[in-house]
Amino acid sequence: MLKVTKNAPQMAIIQLGQAFRNFFAGRAKHPTFRRKGVDDRFTITNDQFQVAGRRIRIPHLGWVRMREELRFSGKIVSATVSRIADRWFVAITVDTEDPPKRPAEHKGAVGVDLGVLALATLSTGERIVGPKALRRELRRLRRLSRSLSRKQKGSKNRAKAKNKVARLHARIANIRQDSLHQLTSDITRRFDVIGIEDLNLRGMVRNHHLARSIADMGFHEFRRQVEYKAARRGAAVVTADRFFPSSKLCSTCGVIQDEMPLTVRTWTCPACNTTHDWDLNAAINLARYAVSSTAYACGGEGSGGSHPTAVKPALLKQEVSIIHV
Ligand SMILES: [Zn+2]
Repeated sequence: MLKVTKNAPQMAIIQLGQAFRNFFAGRAKHPTFRRKGVDDRFTITNDQFQVAGRRIRIPHLGWVRMREELRFSGKIVSATVSRIADRWFVAITVDTEDPPKRPAEHKGAVGVDLGVLALATLSTGERIVGPKALRRELRRLRRLSRSLSRKQKGSKNRAKAKNKVARLHARIANIRQDSLHQLTSDITRRFDVIGIEDLNLRGMVRNHHLARSIADMGFHEFRRQVEYKAARRGAAVVTADRFFPSSKLCSTCGVIQDEMPLTVRTWTCPACNTTHDWDLNAAINLARYAVSSTAYACGGEGSGGSHPTAVKPALLKQEVSIIHV
């Protein structure tokens, strides 16, 4: 505590207070201790630091160069310094006016089916393939993880290997995050009503190990991004109930089929004999579901199990700008 500015432990205690308030309100789990070397970060308030161009003055460190200037103007609230692998970042919170609503293209409704092989399939028939680099990096990760596990505990070589794995994890996370941002920006720019699934159940069943955990992570992040970007554009996000049979429903005749093998890419409806692409069929069903439940919501009737996300207009909002230092 003596090595750092007194503001850093103060903020940690304030944040702990918030964590306990969230816990007692049932919004979060019980706070846990953080370990040194894992998720290292600290927050300082605006009276403790200064930003000038591409530099930031941090107590006990002095002026530190940043990769880019602060992108938002307004009252600076706080700064959080954090480390990911061997890189340092500062996230500066700024009170700004709401940015002007950018015009959407009003192309109507879309359903999005998130997959493992393809990143996403839209009800328009578009298939968005994930970044090619990802597969290669995942192979590298497996190799590096094996190499790490063979190193002797406490040795220099283990520390080096650990650092390599951490950097690769960060790189993979960046690649994924980038492709998700491109996807969610594209969808929210084009469509007014967006239908998504509650949970990526099929993705969970179909895949295993590493790919699964990563696809899983992507799903929650996808939903988070779609919701906040849609709110900015004034679009509605409809999350289908987890009992909605998006992939078992025939989008041509509406027959629900109970038992279906999970391994095939296509299936043929026994009632109308249409052969469907699995993902596209699910996306079309999600689009229809979204349209029908927003129509209900506007008519004031009960929509039965759908939750169109409310669009919150905020006069003042806090924008966080993360800058690599
Ligand atoms: Zn059918």
